[in-house]
Amino acid sequence: MSTAHNQNPPVVVVVGGGFTGLAAAYQLCLEGIAVTVVEAATETGGLAASFKVASGQRLERFYHHWFTSDSHIMSLISELAATDDVILRQTQTGVYYANTIYRLASPLDLLRFSALSLPNRIRLGWLAIRARMVGDWRGLENVSAESWLKRLGGNEVYKVVWEPLLRGKFGDLAPEVSAVWIWNKLKLRGGSRGKDGGEQLAYFRGGFSALVLRMEQAIKSRGGRVLTDTAVTNLQVANGRVHAVVTDQGKLAADAVIVTPAFPIVSQLLTEHTSDSYLRQLAGVKYLANVCLILELDRSLSETYWLNVNDPTFPFVGVIEHTNFEPATSYGDRAIVYLSRYLPADDPYYCLSDSATLEHCLPYLQSMFPAFRREWIMAHYVWRARYAQPVVSREYGASIPTCCSPVEGVYIASMAQIYPEDRGTNYAVREGRETAKLVANWLRNRPIAEWPVCCPCERPASKALGH
Ligand SMILES: Cc1cc2nc3c(=O)[nH]c(=O)nc-3n(C[C@H](O)[C@H](O)[C@H](O)COP(=O)(O)OP(=O)(O)OC[C@H]3O[C@@H](n4cnc5c(N)ncnc54)[C@H](O)[C@@H]3O)c2cc1C
Repeated sequence: MSTAHNQNPPVVVVVGGGFTGLAAAYQLCLEGIAVTVVEAATETGGLAASFKVASGQRLERFYHHWFTSDSHIMSLISELAATDDVILRQTQTGVYYANTIYRLASPLDLLRFSALSLPNRIRLGWLAIRARMVGDWRGLENVSAESWLKRLGGNEVYKVVWEPLLRGKFGDLAPEVSAVWIWNKLKLRGGSRGKDGGEQLAYFRGGFSALVLRMEQAIKSRGGRVLTDTAVTNLQVANGRVHAVVTDQGKLAADAVIVTPAFPIVSQLLTEHTSDSYLRQLAGVKYLANVCLILELDRSLSETYWLNVNDPTFPFVGVIEHTNFEPATSYGDRAIVYLSRYLPADDPYYCLSDSATLEHCLPYLQSMFPAFRREWIMAHYVWRARYAQPVVSREYGASIPTCCSPVEGVYIASMAQIYPEDRGTNYAVREGRETAKLVANWLRNRPIAEWPVCCPCERPASKALGH
């Protein structure tokens, strides 16, 4: 089979300028391959993109941090000579349950968690330890989160701690959620603790947008291009092989394409070029949307960074006071609070106006923090993401398409392919870079030594690539 056919040297187009797309493009630059990132939005960053708050400082539209175990993003940051900009901080976590806020930052807090009987507090702690001891997660693939959590922690712990969390995040889809998803969350959070058992999280000086800028600069300084305000609308395919991407600004020739948005968007781009059964596979993954109401306050609400709201009647599942992580001085001495809600995109709440969203949330916030007054609100913002969280159901691994699409030269590196881990910028970087290496090898017509982690493809490499 021939190698690159459009141009010499070959050109790769990356659809989407989120962390996956930027990481893929950076890796392609390192491989010496010409690359153009095409991003539909005005700015790159995707779900980790930012906006300016009143002080002019940039802030993530959706709260973002890293865990200390997030090695892929840390390696990238180190390659960009930006390790000094990584800030590690201890954070407080808590839970709101039955009209009470409990601190749940350390093992000692857990022993004081009076919402559970003492034996059940111990069971909850033991559950967290057991979760970290799981050797082979594959044994959990066919188990629901609900039955696994009940088995490990018992019914009371499930009712008080886990059911409200799963219901709050996944709503009616909660019973479908796989034990793999919650196991991975427990493992991640447990692995990001300091010696005293407190949680340590990482942030980037200037916010995630400062890192996005560094990634863009690294791509451009190596000859890559980043086009914003340019939506890919179709692919041009001949004899089963991609030749170009069609955008709302014109056509771009391509020897290979890496598509990084959510599956429904991948599906739109491939509709004309692939079988119904493949499109059905893409459609098999369900996504939740997210609405984040951000409040800029003239004072702090509490000392807690991350507060889970264990009451499914609330219109938000978490209160994240960002300025208990990155100090308020970074934002003109304003406290920044996110109220986050995951929901199906056809839920009426998703379409509420910004002011209606605020009005809807305020009474609940007031009941959580009786001292709170609406006069504290200096500004508010609402951000919505249509494809915010793939629903990791049982046997998810077998249902997700591999990174090799049926169209020759088209590779998929999408958030929903991250498994058994859950989506996150750390894994976006891993997925983007591994897919780029695969594409680079394919363009050079070299045998592939190793499949990327994102690709559970069991076919021999040569067959998978149509050689
Ligand atoms: C509420 C929330 C909180 C989160 N918190 C964290 C956190 O604390 N830490 C963490 O690491 N991660 C967090 N994440 C997850 C993280 O943001 C994502 O995993 C990551 O940003 C995904 O990057 P991506 O590039 O794969 O996808 P995306 O960010 O979705 O990027 C896809 C890009 O493709 C573009 N696009 C779509 N269609 C087209 C088209 N037709 N043509 C061109 N471009 C197109 C989109 O505009 C977008 O920029 C959070 C996510 C949410 C929703």
